[in-house]
Amino acid sequence: METIKLEKQKSQDETAARRNYLRERIKDKKRIVVKIGSSSLQHPETGDLDYTKLDVLVRELCDMRNRGKDVVLVTSGAIAVGKKAVHIKDINHLDEDNPIAVKQACAAIGQARLMMTYQKIFAEYNQVAAQILMTKNTIVDNLNRYNAHNTFSELFKLGAIPIVNENDTVATYEIEIGDNDTLSAIVAALVGADLLILLSDIDGLYTDDPRTNTEAKFIEVVEELTDELMDMGKATTGSSVGTGGMNTKLIAAQIATSSNIDMIIANSKDIKVLHRILDGNNIGTLFAGTEKKYFDLPEFVEKMNNY
Ligand code: GLU
Repeated sequence: METIKLEKQKSQDETAARRNYLRERIKDKKRIVVKIGSSSLQHPETGDLDYTKLDVLVRELCDMRNRGKDVVLVTSGAIAVGKKAVHIKDINHLDEDNPIAVKQACAAIGQARLMMTYQKIFAEYNQVAAQILMTKNTIVDNLNRYNAHNTFSELFKLGAIPIVNENDTVATYEIEIGDNDTLSAIVAALVGADLLILLSDIDGLYTDDPRTNTEAKFIEVVEELTDELMDMGKATTGSSVGTGGMNTKLIAAQIATSSNIDMIIANSKDIKVLHRILDGNNIGTLFAGTEKKYFDLPEFVEKMNNY
């Protein structure tokens, strides 16, 4: 009995030591991609932008720049903001022949509005923001990928903060990535980031959906994305606003960790978690990057199935 207890204690100590090591190394990350979803940027009651949250987000990112880090923001919200601007509640239930065109038009309106808001707040903190809109082709096509990579590199040299979204105004299912969880991991891999933070409406990964199963346990660290874990992700659903559920977050983790990038899922209800994470605190679920010898990003993106 005593031996079993000792063994259990030993393994708990080892787990804690490993976790502390992984958290400690977050402090040294140099190039960080932060993703925020539509539901985290809106007031749930009205669907209007939550300026207080946006302000805190931008301040945190500017402060990361001031710490000498390269920073990329992947932000959703184009469609949600556009819908709001032209008073559309639910695109899928519109009496329209081409709801995709309506969605794309909303994205065109909303992306400009969203960027205007970001530009204003970034300027208040003396930072230069830049917009990059991508589709699947940006990665799959060699010339496009090369160009995108060069643009990011140049923006880092200039000290600017790239703000990325999918190019929803032209992306139809053939060329769409489909959700910004996946997009942010692709961006992280493309720019050679060493940390990806997904700000979401949940605390991190659980053994089951905590909204329906009170027994669900929180997972602090994931070192291996097992098939069992990936299957578990497929069974969950996302919020009604964004596109990503746990499945897309696990696909993001697959891309990030295979590219030797640590990934953290954290709750966006307090965006100030960003600097606490960078200080090495144990917040959210951490997926540890692995030294995989070969990961073919364009091939992976080409084979991704969104429809
Ligand atoms: N690209 C979409 C938008 O900006 C959102 C995609 C997502 O929520 O993952 O509206």
